[in-house]
Amino acid sequence: MTNSLQEAPAGDGVLGYDDVVRLTAVRKVYGGAVVALDGVSVGLRRGSFTAIMGPSGSGKSTLLQCAAGLDRPSSGSVELDGVELTSLGERERTRLRRRRIGFVFQAYNLLPALTVRDNVALPLRLAGRRPKRRTVEEVLRRVGLGDRMRSRPGELSGGQQQRVAIARALVARPAVLFGDEPTGALDTGTAREVLGLLRETVRETGQTVVMVTHDPIAAAHADRALFLADGRLVGELDQPTVEQVAAQMTRLG
Ligand code: ADP
Ligand code: MG
Repeated sequence: MTNSLQEAPAGDGVLGYDDVVRLTAVRKVYGGAVVALDGVSVGLRRGSFTAIMGPSGSGKSTLLQCAAGLDRPSSGSVELDGVELTSLGERERTRLRRRRIGFVFQAYNLLPALTVRDNVALPLRLAGRRPKRRTVEEVLRRVGLGDRMRSRPGELSGGQQQRVAIARALVARPAVLFGDEPTGALDTGTAREVLGLLRETVRETGQTVVMVTHDPIAAAHADRALFLADGRLVGELDQPTVEQVAAQMTRLG
């Protein structure tokens, strides 16, 4: 199978012709008063791993939700995989989101009554597809939980539950996987395992990962770190090191 866009050499970030997510002048105002995003423009290259950082309240979650089509900006545009999300109605946006986006939250958000296997199969059902047993088993094996398919979330550790959530987010082969502090509830060792898993995913499948984190070590797994403050993009590091990230965070307070 050939796809000229995907086989093109990696862009230099200037033209951004292979950006899978592109925000242009995105503003988000809550309740007519709280400016959560104040004109954010950024492109995220296909197959890249981006960390989003910044103080609490700087707009990180809002940015992720607008980029993922979970929320609508007040103005500006969001393009996802070549489609202008902001021009779509609610129903079309939801449909596109289910096909092209995976989302992982800090709180895992698994359904406790369903088995691991059924939790992971859920996005396929919601998208109106019949989950193939093999597809579900494959993605669970990839996150190292091939032997826990019949377990319920309550029988698993936090790290295992987050890996189930990642498997669920990946099962429909989304173009972009968003994580809002996906390792925030995990101890350091487990967090690093989960990060390693996300990093590998990008390398093996060419999927794009965008993750909010407070952890400089987590950000150093990324190809690029973006820094938000007061709803604006105020800094950027390519191939960030832990030390560079920590220094930038100190600067921003
Ligand atoms: P972060 O994830 O960086 O902590 P958020 O995106 O959650 O920041 O929030 C950015 C700003 O928008 C904050 O001032 C927050 O209080 C406000 N905010 C976020 N969500 C809502 C909401 N649903 N209604 C009103 N204000 C909100
Ligand atoms: Mg947040």
